[in-house]
Amino acid sequence: MKVLTALRNADAVRHVAREIAEVKLDRTVRLMEVCGGHTAAIYRFALRDLLPEWVELVSGPGCPVCVTANDFVDRSVALARQPNVTIATFGDLIRVPGSSRSLAEVRAEGGDVRVFYSSADALDWAIQHPERIVVFLGIGFETTACTLAATLKSAVQDNARNFRLLSSLKTMPPALSALFSAPDVKVDGLILPGHVTTVIGTACYEFIPSEFNIPCVVSGFEPLDLMETILKLCQQLAEARASVENQYRRVVHAEGNPQAQVLMDEMFEPADVPWRGFGVIPGSGLAIRREFADWDAERIPVEVEPTREHAGCRCGEVLRGALHPTECPLFGKSCTPDTPRGACMVSAEGACAAVYHFSPVEHG
Ligand code: SF4
Repeated sequence: MKVLTALRNADAVRHVAREIAEVKLDRTVRLMEVCGGHTAAIYRFALRDLLPEWVELVSGPGCPVCVTANDFVDRSVALARQPNVTIATFGDLIRVPGSSRSLAEVRAEGGDVRVFYSSADALDWAIQHPERIVVFLGIGFETTACTLAATLKSAVQDNARNFRLLSSLKTMPPALSALFSAPDVKVDGLILPGHVTTVIGTACYEFIPSEFNIPCVVSGFEPLDLMETILKLCQQLAEARASVENQYRRVVHAEGNPQAQVLMDEMFEPADVPWRGFGVIPGSGLAIRREFADWDAERIPVEVEPTREHAGCRCGEVLRGALHPTECPLFGKSCTPDTPRGACMVSAEGACAAVYHFSPVEHG
């Protein structure tokens, strides 16, 4: 608790803000917070208000619910309509609009859609209800993937054959590579995700400074963490250098978590998967290894409706940092947290939801 108080100390945060303002940069710099957790913290603590005008923060592809493409929601909806299937999921996903329906709507129509706080809880429920096929919706990045790998391994060891995983798990480095190859993305520095990096370590980001000459800093989630990270990025830019630095040293180690890496590798293999806003990114997904196919919900035969995007939704551009949420014509009008038209307005880590909840000045 003492640590948290120190990391939220207003004087210390303002002191770093002054240091940022004193960095000699005579141009506007665009820094991207890759992680949705960072986006939420930046808006929650109103950190943008403390920064000089020449520092612009843009959101990136790090909200797991937001980058989950419509076809995954559509497949989940189709499965939820099967009479013997229970859909088990984390809370946010059920409100994401698919091509024609959300899971919440299917539940209202009688589908068995249940929210669990962990995949282990869902596995326990499946073991207690052998008459149901329990499909856990696996979305998220490496941080979630290692816990799902552990649950999947338990299901295999327990021979819990009514538990299935529908994987839309993703890995961050290929997405960042795709991001910098997109013509409409202009980023001067990256605030790298703290939690993901606890698992994968810092070395896997070295290609970003070397190939794209973009400074990177792994950041924690408290106000002082984020301000120090922004300072480090500005200092790299002022000194015309680009490297990977680690601000979150109290949690993140260079090698990551080797045990978690081994576990993920044991249960999953790389796959080409679609990302909202990016299309299919080669090798950016984690599919269940063939030897565990009996636990793979992808293999349940089901008719899935053709995927379509919602007219007017600009989530894809928001996720590439190419558009500020308030520039979407639907923002705050037909699209609000109560009536989301796109995934970025659903999750607490979504950029549109963060602006809507914490920045009333920006959205009027
Ligand atoms: S305001 Fe709604 S529709 Fe527009 S980009 Fe955000 S989530 Fe998508």
